[in-house]
Amino acid sequence: MARRKIVAGNWKMNMTPSQAVALCDELKDLVKSDDVDVVYCVPAIDIVPVVEAVKGTNVEVGAENMYFEEKGAYTGEISAAMIKDAGAKYVIIGHSERRDYFKEDDALLNKKVKKAFEAGLTPILCCGETLEQREMGITLDWIRMQIKSDLVGVSAEQAASMVIAYEPIWAIGTGKTATTEQAQEVCKAVRDCVAEIYDAATAQAVRIQYGGSVNAGNAAELFAQPDIDGGLVGGASLKADFGKIVNY
Ligand code: PGA
Repeated sequence: MARRKIVAGNWKMNMTPSQAVALCDELKDLVKSDDVDVVYCVPAIDIVPVVEAVKGTNVEVGAENMYFEEKGAYTGEISAAMIKDAGAKYVIIGHSERRDYFKEDDALLNKKVKKAFEAGLTPILCCGETLEQREMGITLDWIRMQIKSDLVGVSAEQAASMVIAYEPIWAIGTGKTATTEQAQEVCKAVRDCVAEIYDAATAQAVRIQYGGSVNAGNAAELFAQPDIDGGLVGGASLKADFGKIVNY
């Protein structure tokens, strides 16, 4: 069966609650699609108003991060159960900004992935190499290490239902997109890695996004690649262009 494309916006630390609702209204008609799953991953404080604002539309909502503990004395954190109860369905885990600025490592991210599934959320697990790693020629080894570490203890059925986003760090917010060949090569390597951990059916089912300076001009070519099932979009998800990316 053909995989359904999924295009997710990653709003990062942008949009106050009232701005978020205004953006949902602005994008409402532009992101309509029968063929593509559309997700807005939004700051925690925007989840409730955005869930309300997209009610009755084709848009689903996701969080940008979560903590792996059930509840308790973890000041400042939000749990998977809170995200789920607020009406979101997805959660980004392991974005390179979290790995870098907040020192999240693969052991922690593995706990988050497992907890997300336990709570009934779909993880969008991010992986990606630095420019230095690419120049050293260790991109595929690095990605495989990330995927294998982050999926320890995750079942085949869970893996088949999740989303993995390949985001070369050097392409994020830089305007420097990976070439279609580079993006396809790594997304294929991610799929091969999933096949190696699980089986061919799981690898065929898992949806793999490309992220890093996706825009209205390059989405169609990227999403046409055999192993690219959509995109994780930062900057361009905050403007009308996002509609063009969804309807690439
Ligand atoms: P960008 O961000 O589209 O602004 O490059 C992508 C991301 O970080 O998910």
